[in-house]
Amino acid sequence: MSADIIDGKAFSASVRAQISEHVERLKADHGITPGLAVILVGEDPASEVYVAAKHKQTVEVGMASFDHKLPADTPEEELFALIDQLNADPTVHGILCQFPVPDHLNERAVVARIDPAKDVDGLSVVNAGLLASGETGLVSCTPLGCLMLLRDRLGNMSGKEAVVIGRSNLFGKPMGQLLLQENCTVTISHSRTADLPEVCRRADIVVAAVGRAEMVKQDWIKPGATVIDVGITRIPHPEKPGKSKLFGDVAFAEASEVASSITPVPGGVGPMTIACLLANTLTACCRAHSIEEPEGLTV
Ligand code: NAP
Repeated sequence: MSADIIDGKAFSASVRAQISEHVERLKADHGITPGLAVILVGEDPASEVYVAAKHKQTVEVGMASFDHKLPADTPEEELFALIDQLNADPTVHGILCQFPVPDHLNERAVVARIDPAKDVDGLSVVNAGLLASGETGLVSCTPLGCLMLLRDRLGNMSGKEAVVIGRSNLFGKPMGQLLLQENCTVTISHSRTADLPEVCRRADIVVAAVGRAEMVKQDWIKPGATVIDVGITRIPHPEKPGKSKLFGDVAFAEASEVASSITPVPGGVGPMTIACLLANTLTACCRAHSIEEPEGLTV
């Protein structure tokens, strides 16, 4: 078997096109422009790249983008004062603080300060609790992106065996909750899981989010399974000195021989994260104005 390659880049572009249409309609019918505020504390180069990409795509879908760059030594009170101001600003529907933040700041406290209705990263305890209770909240962007890819590929997932590798609050736990809501039978595995290859072999859906290059081998995959590779590891390029190469958690070439569909790294899950950030901002905006939410962009 040779797996279908799930093109996250193309799919994310179609999601953004859908968002763009909804934004146009919000503007035309209600005079409302969804707004996303992004806070960057310090000058981490990777974070600057992410924030620039978020800004570009926010503007491209017609939303308002509010960027706040703060110096690395910004005291907590000052950051909190900015978050309070954005919480109270009716033109801002989504707020995110780019992580990591400098050591003197506490990420959990920063997330907790953001109004849960504007927590478009879906990382707050409130939104995690709403998801776990099956109630309406905002869902963490990368798991939401994986769910969209899986729904598009598989449609009804009821009764399928799903194994999530990794149990982080950012990804593994919310991914497990989302698959449970789809009526999958879910196993969330981690570094202490006994016989992980055997656990994976029973899965119709494998979602790997560990951060260990090519850990998931061909013989871990049940023939015909759908494989979603979230992991990203940057390793010095084997053939190009001074360059690096991205690897996923799945040994892509060999797994492709048994899976029915698989996401590549890069170009699979990665592009979905910003698309889902924009989807969450649109959802938050609709909820703030009691306007019907667009279908298919949330759970
Ligand atoms: P994390 O917080 O470090 O969690 C990693 C998880 O992997 C932990 O639950 C850990 O188990 C588990 N693990 C570690 N070694 C393992 C092993 N040998 N066998 C089974 N499980 C093992 O990482 P994360 O934030 O969830 O991210 C995971 C990966 O996804 C990273 O590569 C990250 O870069 C990537 N990611 C990509 C995107 C994107 O594409 N946009 C977004 C988010 C994350 P324990 O809990 O037992 O330690």
